[in-house]
Amino acid sequence: MTDLPRHMRPPREPDPNIKMRPADLLETLKLVWQASPRHAVVYAATSLLSSALPAANLYIGKLLLDEVARAAQGKVTYQTLLTLLAVQVSLTVLGSLLSTLNSASQQLLGDSLQHSVSRRILDKASGLSVESFENAETYDKLQQAYREVGSRPLGVATQLVGLAGAVVTLVSVGALMTRLGFWVLPLVLLASLPSVYVSNRYGIETYRMLRRQTHDSRVQNYLGSLLTSDTLVKEVRLFGFEPYLLGRWREYYLGFRRQLEGMVRQRSAWGFAASLTSALLIGLASALILRRAADGQISVGDFSVFVLGIAQVQGTVSGFLNGLSGIYQNLLYMRNLFGFLELPDRDLDAGEIWHGEIDTIEFQDVGFRYPLTDRDVLKGVNFTVRRGEALALVGENGAGKTTIVKLLTRLFEPTAGRILLNGLDAQRFSPRSVQKQMSIIFQDFGQYQMSARENVALAEIERLQDEQGVESAVERAGASYVETLPQGLDTPLGRLFQGGRQLSGGQWQRLALARLYFRDSSVLVFDEPTAALDARAEFETMAALRSQARNRITFLISHRFSTVRLADKIIVLDGGIVTEAGSHSELLALGGKYAALYNLQASGYAGELEKA
Ligand code: ADP
Repeated sequence: MTDLPRHMRPPREPDPNIKMRPADLLETLKLVWQASPRHAVVYAATSLLSSALPAANLYIGKLLLDEVARAAQGKVTYQTLLTLLAVQVSLTVLGSLLSTLNSASQQLLGDSLQHSVSRRILDKASGLSVESFENAETYDKLQQAYREVGSRPLGVATQLVGLAGAVVTLVSVGALMTRLGFWVLPLVLLASLPSVYVSNRYGIETYRMLRRQTHDSRVQNYLGSLLTSDTLVKEVRLFGFEPYLLGRWREYYLGFRRQLEGMVRQRSAWGFAASLTSALLIGLASALILRRAADGQISVGDFSVFVLGIAQVQGTVSGFLNGLSGIYQNLLYMRNLFGFLELPDRDLDAGEIWHGEIDTIEFQDVGFRYPLTDRDVLKGVNFTVRRGEALALVGENGAGKTTIVKLLTRLFEPTAGRILLNGLDAQRFSPRSVQKQMSIIFQDFGQYQMSARENVALAEIERLQDEQGVESAVERAGASYVETLPQGLDTPLGRLFQGGRQLSGGQWQRLALARLYFRDSSVLVFDEPTAALDARAEFETMAALRSQARNRITFLISHRFSTVRLADKIIVLDGGIVTEAGSHSELLALGGKYAALYNLQASGYAGELEKA
């Protein structure tokens, strides 16, 4: 899949199984409230107050008009008019004050909310098992939750407050309008529905049309990219297939164009019908009002409430309906977020605390099956390894070597059999306390863009200031070059941040090795650590390791038999089953798979070393 050009890859679809839950609305509000009660209150209060302003403005406008009309007949003093004007100006000032407070509190609330939700996501992520990260569905949930954390929760909050505000506006403006006659408000409300309906419906249609076109437009883009590619231009010119590409590119365009025309035609027709219906309904409402005007029951001001109120009601209704669909969309995101936050944690501290060193590790009939799969990747694995011994795991890719390491290091628990530590079932003890006795270097070890000191001390961060400890680990790992860097151990490493020094692959690896040594543990695990080194460097590293690891238990995964042969015990895995076990010489004497593979590689090494 990754070989495809970027634009050819299928887009990520939202999870179709996610359903909105009304309870999430309450949960979201709780989240918003907890993020910053003060700003939430200010935001909600200013929004709701602002929503009542249109009605107040309409009313004051009406009074002013009426008074102006009466003034024409000489019945009103300048003083009265000025008082009304002052009220109107005060309303305007109040409006801008409210909107200033509103947007300031929204910004701060949004920031607090983003921080608190990110914090929850990160907290959750740090409590999740390794297993959850290896599960594609959970991982997608995490990524999506983290990507959209900035906009979605605040979106739900603002839309919800917006809905409440719309209700306030509709009720208050509506109350003014009912003074004009019982039928006026229902007619105005009704008149605003057709256009909202049409615009929503065609919004969805447009989205569906684009969805339908995704595949074809990817092909069209691809055809365009062939014509604009610098690497392909030679071939395209020589074979002269530009007209063919251009022709096909245009065919796709014409297809899209036909669909667009059909839709624009329909949308225009429905849009026109909607405006016509609205105009008729408004016309009907106007006729009803004018009849009352003719009867002398309605003033100029009342009529202005009607005329200006129509636009207000229509705008609010369409905002209300759009808000509803926005909330729906955002709540789907919130479901994803809550779904992620509700995932069970793995309590690494549950169980007795392991004290002291590990002297023996025994796998008894250990079997393992990854969650949500139907295949045992390990079956009946038995072995014992004691302090001072090194055990090597050999086997083809997928044989189960890394899985054994994951079980040993308590990242996963066996689904059959048991692992004994000093003769005691490992499950009795809290994974974290057992992990303290283990140190590991993975094939894809971390290259932390931090200082060299941190890169080493992360293995036991409480000892970050242990100068001697860090130096001795660095020395044992053959990573003394870090001390010659401009700021010694405090030199920032990596290219990601300003002033960082980049290291070579081998240098990073030695630093990871120093990290492994820094933790004073009784079990050392090397999961293909030397894959980046050439054969001779690997041999030297492993020989040095052997001398340093004598007092510990060492696990080693490697494809290089020159390294593997140094181990005291070698286990050959095939499809999750131990097929051969013994020392190097025993396995060679056995003449089985190990012997065959060893001899095959040994002849290759001889040639390689000769060349060097
Ligand atoms: P090795 O280290 O020997 O290459 P692994 O222990 O990584 O082998 O894998 C053993 C088997 O388990 C393989 O078939 C692999 O596809 C499967 N496997 C590894 N990790 C997972 C996982 N997270 N979920 C499901 N299957 C997995």
